[in-house]
Amino acid sequence: MNALESDRIVFSNAKLLDGDQPPQSGMHVVVRANRIESVTRSTPDLGRDDRVYDLNGQTLMPGMVQAHFHTGFGPTPSAGPAPILGLEAPPAFMGMVAAKNAMTALDCGVTSIIGSSNPGFLDVSLKDAISIGLIDGPRVLACTHELMVSGDQADGTNRSWYMGISESGLTRRVDGVEQMRQVVREEIGRGCDIVKLSVSPGHGSHPAADVSYYGQDEIDAAVSAAHEREKRVRAHTASRESILRCARAGVDIIDHADLIDDEGIELVLEKKLGVTPSMLWTVRYLEFAASWDYDTMGPFPIGDGFPETRAAVDARLDGVRRDFEYTCGVLPKMEAAGVRLLVGDDFGFPMMPHGDYVSEFEVYVDQIGIAPLSVVRWATKHGAEAMGRGEELGTITPGKLADLLIVDGDPSVEIGCLRDGIVGVMKDGVFHREPPRPDDAA
Ligand SMILES: [Zn+2]
Repeated sequence: MNALESDRIVFSNAKLLDGDQPPQSGMHVVVRANRIESVTRSTPDLGRDDRVYDLNGQTLMPGMVQAHFHTGFGPTPSAGPAPILGLEAPPAFMGMVAAKNAMTALDCGVTSIIGSSNPGFLDVSLKDAISIGLIDGPRVLACTHELMVSGDQADGTNRSWYMGISESGLTRRVDGVEQMRQVVREEIGRGCDIVKLSVSPGHGSHPAADVSYYGQDEIDAAVSAAHEREKRVRAHTASRESILRCARAGVDIIDHADLIDDEGIELVLEKKLGVTPSMLWTVRYLEFAASWDYDTMGPFPIGDGFPETRAAVDARLDGVRRDFEYTCGVLPKMEAAGVRLLVGDDFGFPMMPHGDYVSEFEVYVDQIGIAPLSVVRWATKHGAEAMGRGEELGTITPGKLADLLIVDGDPSVEIGCLRDGIVGVMKDGVFHREPPRPDDAA
């Protein structure tokens, strides 16, 4: 027996959900060090030191990718309703929020995250802390601040006071081609892997007015500056025009895409771009609005800091609802066309805390009628492709890295079993949560 053989872990009698195809029963998967060595129907030859886990029909699937992850969204001492600015607690506290969110995600079977905007380069520090083993957490594709033009919806009157503190807060004002190039270069130099642009209003809490804040030249500049450095770009896009501009530029992840039309779908397909619909946010926001009692609770807390009239609030909510219904109609069309759809949402708000990830999957399956197997594919194979690591992650294939989940239940039939049914989590060949072995119990 050579020394390497003692590194082998064997999962036998697995229902294999490989991240792409329908499940196959009675499969055996061997992991050596941090890679998948073999996937077979026949029982592999066992070495004396192999550690064997008889899954007895439990599902073995790839670790999941949360493709829209706000590291810094979470409870803070100010306990405000909208933990989005990144300045509601000192940087040290925000770092602890990020660490907690990372550990929560890994507990939930999320072995990779693609950052969305975050304050103070939290993602970069998180990535570094995990890579040196300071804390346990998923693989991290670190994101920049949310780069936005002057006059963006989120650059409202109640928020403008902090806009000068660009190093600390969530957002950073960037106008014009030259400044865009400079900021993208700078933030990538600080360790970011993916650039976040805010390109349109809309999604979830706002109707998507047909506006693109950034010009085509500015988006093109961000994409070329990032791609030249082999980094990626994502963009908050809800309006038709912003989707078209970002897709033409080759923005790697189109966030939300609420009002995507046929031309947008065609472009996204042609360029193999990812799309994060992130529809739980809208569902929860509309529920929150519906539960609001105007008589006892006063004005509804939207309107960029100033109370709006009831009529204005209702008109805005009607717009949100219309956009949501449109996206519900177009999502099955995108799925049928083969768009690289992804999971990931604005987790970290009190109405949708980190860890509640499966509720997003259930919106697609239960409300929109997407097949559970498709959502599994979005969360695994597609997520790895969106990271640019489709060759190494996302499916259970010999030679790939061993990011694996053991699930009591079959997520391709009942997606909800991913909520409480994950009994084993392996990242890079190491158990974060080890499933029980028959001989351990004896
Ligand atoms: Zn977001």
